Amino acid sequence: MNYCDLAPSYIRSIAPYQPGKPISELERELGITGIVKLASNENPLGASPAAVAAMQEAIKTIALYPDGNGFDLKDALVKRYGVTHANVTLGNGSNDLLELAARAFLTPGDKVVYSAHAFAVYALASQAVGATGISVPAAKGYGHDLPAMLKAAKDNKAKIVFIANPNNPTGTFLSADELEVFLRGLPPEILVVLDEAYNEYLPEDKRYDSVSWLKEFPNLIISRTFSKAYGLAGLRVGYALAHEQVTDMMNRVRQPFNVNSVAQAAAVAALRDVSFVKKTFELNRRGMLQITEGLTKLGLEYIPSFGNFVAFRIGNATAMYRRLLELGVIVRPIANYDMPDWLRVSIGLESENAKFLSALEKCINQQVNGEIK
Ligand SMILES: *Cc1c(COP(=O)(O)O)cnc(C)c1O
Repeated sequence: MNYCDLAPSYIRSIAPYQPGKPISELERELGITGIVKLASNENPLGASPAAVAAMQEAIKTIALYPDGNGFDLKDALVKRYGVTHANVTLGNGSNDLLELAARAFLTPGDKVVYSAHAFAVYALASQAVGATGISVPAAKGYGHDLPAMLKAAKDNKAKIVFIANPNNPTGTFLSADELEVFLRGLPPEILVVLDEAYNEYLPEDKRYDSVSWLKEFPNLIISRTFSKAYGLAGLRVGYALAHEQVTDMMNRVRQPFNVNSVAQAAAVAALRDVSFVKKTFELNRRGMLQITEGLTKLGLEYIPSFGNFVAFRIGNATAMYRRLLELGVIVRPIANYDMPDWLRVSIGLESENAKFLSALEKCINQQVNGEIK
C-alpha cells in the first residue's frame, strides 16, 4: 500500500519547506572548505557572548525538564515590553508560533490571507491544518498590498491574515501608518499575525511600536524571534505577544516543553545584551551598503531591503546559484516564492560580502562568455 494515502489530501499536497543549503553538505559534495553561507539570514557575528555564557551555565542542569511556563524569559519580555505574562507565548523559534496560531484557531476549510512572495511558512502552517490559503498579488515593488489583503480578508471571511514586516525574501517594509489603517479596517474576528522577525534591523526612522497596538487591537498577534539579530538560530526560540485570550488558546496547543532550558537561559541573556544587537545592526547597515553598491556596479537590479538580506534579479538564476556554490558561496534561490529570476543573499561580514561579490562577478563574466548554460 501507499502510506501517503493514509494522510489527508491537504497534507499530501504540502510542498516541503526548502531551507538554505548547510555548509557541511556543500563541503561533502565538493570536498572544499572556506565556504561562505549567505543563505539563511543568520547573524554573521554569531551569538552574544553573554548568551553563550548563559548556555554553558544552563547545561549544568540539562538533566532537568525546562520550566514549561518559561517564567524567567517571559518576565524579561514583560519588563521590556510592558505587557503581562498572560500576553506572552514562547515558541521553538517563531516558526512554532506561526504554527501555534494556525493550530489554535484554524479548522479545515477556513480561509487564510497572505501576500504573494511572503514567507513560505504561512502557507505551510495553514495547509497543515487543512485551511485554504489565499495569496494576494503583491503591490508594485513586490511589497504586501495591504488594501487588497484587507479586501480579500473581508470578502472571504478569513480567520487569519499573515503579514511579514519586513518581509522575507523580498525585504519590503510597511509603515506604521499603513499597518494601522489596515488594522482599523479589519473586523475584530479576523486575527492578524504580524511577523516581525527582522524588527531589530529597521533603521531608526522606520521603527514603530507595534506592542502599543495590542490594547486597541485584541485580534493582533505579534511574533518575534531570537534567530536573526540575536544570533540564536540554531537554538530555536521566539515569542508572540497577544491578547490574553488569544495567548491562552495558543498555549493550549503548545507542547509543554517546546522551548528547552538552554534556549530559555540564552534568550534572557541575549535580550539584556543591547550592545550586541546594536553592533549587529551597525554591521548589517554597512554590509547592506557594500552589497547593494556591489550589485549596482554589476548592473543588477535589487529590491531595497529592510532586513539582513537582499533579493537581486539575475538571468539564469538557477545556473548562477549552482555556479556560486562551486565557488564556495551559498545564497538562496527563491523560485519557490514565485521569483524564478531572483536570488537572495544574506548580509555577512565585510570579507564574506566581498567574497560573494567577486564570485558573482566571476559568474557574470562566465555567463557573458557563454560558459554557463
Ligand atoms: C527567519 C524568519 C522567521 C523566524 O524563524 P525562526 O528561526 O523559527 O524564529 C520568521 N519569519 C520570517 C519572515 C523569517 O524570515
